[in-house]
Amino acid sequence: MALYGGLHDNSSLKPNSGPWYHIMKLKEELLNSGINLSSLFKRKIGNGQKTSFWNDNWLGGSPLCVSFPRLHRLDSNPDCFVSERAPTVRQSTSVLAPVDLSSGTQNLLLGSGPSGFLPPPGLIFKWAWSRVLYTTHEIEELRDITSLLSHLNLSQEEDSWEFTMDASRKFTVKSMNSHITSLSYPSSLQPTRWNKALPSKININTWRAMNSRLPTRRNLAARGIELHSIRCPLCDEDIETEEHIFVRCKIALDIWRDILKWWNITNVHLNNLYDVIHLADYAPIAGKFSSFFDVVVQTTIWALWKFRNESTFSMKRPRKDLILSDIKLLSFTWVSSRCKKTCLNWIEWFNDPCNALPTLCNLP
Ligand SMILES: [Zn+2]
Repeated sequence: MALYGGLHDNSSLKPNSGPWYHIMKLKEELLNSGINLSSLFKRKIGNGQKTSFWNDNWLGGSPLCVSFPRLHRLDSNPDCFVSERAPTVRQSTSVLAPVDLSSGTQNLLLGSGPSGFLPPPGLIFKWAWSRVLYTTHEIEELRDITSLLSHLNLSQEEDSWEFTMDASRKFTVKSMNSHITSLSYPSSLQPTRWNKALPSKININTWRAMNSRLPTRRNLAARGIELHSIRCPLCDEDIETEEHIFVRCKIALDIWRDILKWWNITNVHLNNLYDVIHLADYAPIAGKFSSFFDVVVQTTIWALWKFRNESTFSMKRPRKDLILSDIKLLSFTWVSSRCKKTCLNWIEWFNDPCNALPTLCNLP
């Protein structure tokens, strides 16, 4: 039986009876128990005609209206479907039509675009902005959403639902039951991550690391791309996987040791990728400051990936001794600029954030 509707609050379909009525009722009851039903289901895109582009959870770990709030506000049709915004492949790549910046409806041809924006060639997007995009944040969001959408391929099949907590992607009472049981243990809290203090590119990078979506050598080889080696380009000691880059590589071990020391955290062992990504959930840091530490954790994951890319692709070898200070500076910038109630001091943050935070933050 096909069920039409959505788990997001502003779903256009709100019947007073039937399966969706009961599912939505169940959603509220589970939320009271700390289980977010919306985060457990994800849309599987077929033809994209029954999935809300901005409001459904179908790409990147959370609805696009959450990941890209500025662009969502500027879409002239915020209730559009995925099929209306999916990129199409350009037939001829010889002509690059310019973007009509004077038009209210901006048909962005990838290959050209707002200044500083270099999207992948060969794709045409059907954006319909209510005005021209021009601020740095808007262009940044456009760049990130374009990167996410560039792998989207529509098919003839109808859109369907996937249950994200089971390897089979199929919802069964048994799989739901085991998930609810697992939530009784503190280590399993917060299955999805999206830190509002961070720019979308950092959140997306973490989501990619969690879901094996980064172009690591192992992932590229699995897609049939021929490489001269699938071993880590930094240490050559193992196959280059996400777990190796972010947990086991010598560079990662050194950086995490420095991060834990910086935050005065002891007796924490990072055994696998899950431990690293969810470090802020179980590190001994007072609840209201753990989201700041999560900024540091996600920034570190991003910095390790950036260091790996610069080591592999850049002519100039990046300096390992600068990674930690880069992480400190970037995380300070994001926490202090995006969390309005904070009043952080750079020197304190740099030297001893754990002791500085309680006195420097005017949090309720
Ligand atoms: Zn390595």
